[in-house]
Amino acid sequence: MPSSFDVAVLGGGIAGATAALAARRAGASVIVIRKGIGATSLSSGAIDLVDTLRPGGRCVPVVEAVRWLTEARPYHPLAQLAAGDAGRVVEAYTRAVELLREPLRLAGNATGSGPLLTAAGNWHPGGVYAAAHGPGAMEGLDGARFHVVALDLLPGVVPERLTAALDRRFGAAAPAKSGEAASAAAAPPPTPGPTSASMPAPRAAAPATCSLGELMRLGAPLNASPAILATLFDDPAFAEAFAASCAERVRRFKPTHVVFPPVLGLARSAENLALLEKALEARCFETLSAPPSLPGARLQAALDAALSRAGLVVIDGTATRGVRDTVHVHGPAGESELVARTFVLATGKYLGGGLARNGRVRETLFDLPVFVDGEPLPERTLERYLAHSPGARQPLLAAGVRVDGRLRPMDAAGRPVREGLFAAGAVLDGVDYGDDLGGTGLAMLTGFVAGENAAREVPR
Ligand SMILES: Cc1cc2nc3c(=O)[nH]c(=O)nc-3n(C[C@H](O)[C@H](O)[C@H](O)COP(=O)(O)OP(=O)(O)OC[C@H]3O[C@@H](n4cnc5c(N)ncnc54)[C@H](O)[C@@H]3O)c2cc1C
Repeated sequence: MPSSFDVAVLGGGIAGATAALAARRAGASVIVIRKGIGATSLSSGAIDLVDTLRPGGRCVPVVEAVRWLTEARPYHPLAQLAAGDAGRVVEAYTRAVELLREPLRLAGNATGSGPLLTAAGNWHPGGVYAAAHGPGAMEGLDGARFHVVALDLLPGVVPERLTAALDRRFGAAAPAKSGEAASAAAAPPPTPGPTSASMPAPRAAAPATCSLGELMRLGAPLNASPAILATLFDDPAFAEAFAASCAERVRRFKPTHVVFPPVLGLARSAENLALLEKALEARCFETLSAPPSLPGARLQAALDAALSRAGLVVIDGTATRGVRDTVHVHGPAGESELVARTFVLATGKYLGGGLARNGRVRETLFDLPVFVDGEPLPERTLERYLAHSPGARQPLLAAGVRVDGRLRPMDAAGRPVREGLFAAGAVLDGVDYGDDLGGTGLAMLTGFVAGENAAREVPR
């Protein structure tokens, strides 16, 4: 392996992986150093650039949400990239999504904003999302008949909440008429299997807790977690038996769309959804996930596979700052020193390891200046950056590296701190995935731009 590269990407989450793929496509030799997994593997399956959801469940166009954000938070990376023109952000995001659409099996589009259903029965802004969560933009579905399938081994998923959310949105679950109620009451007790709730007659399919027995009969252990279930679904024999079991009890409701919890396989979710669609004769999709998140794990696995297919060198190890244009790597394979002409810092925030709070908040790799909401973060007295009322925004969660319009880290005077250094993803100031939903989409966009810029800046 050569020890000198055009671009070294530090971090292997969605920001780092996108930066590496973009730099490679721009013709650079690229190495990725990653010490483990970060926030990407916990994300829900939605790829969020910016929060488009407004009170009342309405979604505004992405460009409008970007414009609002850039005016409200001029220090935010999106404001830096937009330079007064929100359309530039959307145009670059569209290119980033197209780079990753096939490797990540993405659906939706960069300008879309229709909402997606979460496992808790809430609505999450849509746009771009893993295809397993289609039909995604829940628009143009009036007249659809939804059926919700839940698995008893997943206590967090309450099918009635999902049904109620769909009901509220599409108004299809009218209160049962007396005749229907009578026939539902006369219906045979549900056979063991996935718990399910149907529309427009939710009471017809709110069965007893039989699914545990059925899942165990199919091979699930008593202590199955989402991860164990997903592994089971990666076995075609389990998936086929599950599809047959579902078909028995779901098809009689003649749904047009069937909603599943997000556990239908780690490696084979797309195949399993196709199998279920055939067996149920309906469109099938998963809700988004809460952590621990199988969609997040799938996303990280798909990124890793894309890096491997692109032939990029990936080292598992912790990078630390070296002199001038080098980084040290400490990993299972020992210690090494790498030379690179440009660097992309994509180490994430507290979860990924890019920021640490130990007395003061610091950027862990280059000890870059840390900002919060555009202001340099003082060494001490962080008190005023912590909110104490429940539900209030925590400014410290948005802290990070401040960048210019080319995504170069800046000092307090607005000067780039280091030649050939770019930053992307959650390590940036202003990115707070708990607050403004600047999540995987923002990491993807900034990774894409940083990767292209790093490749362009390589001295030839
Ligand atoms: C619970 C949860 C739910 C979320 N839900 C959503 C959602 O619904 N939609 C959405 O869009 N976003 C969501 N997000 C946010 C989203 O996951 C993050 O914004 C995004 O994944 C950040 O990507 P990243 O690549 O910048 O960082 P990370 O994914 O954290 O990656 C950081 C990488 O840097 C590596 N690293 C750190 N330090 C070093 C070092 N010194 N040397 C080598 N490698 C290093 C880490 O090992 C890791 O590989 C969620 C986040 C969480 C935590």
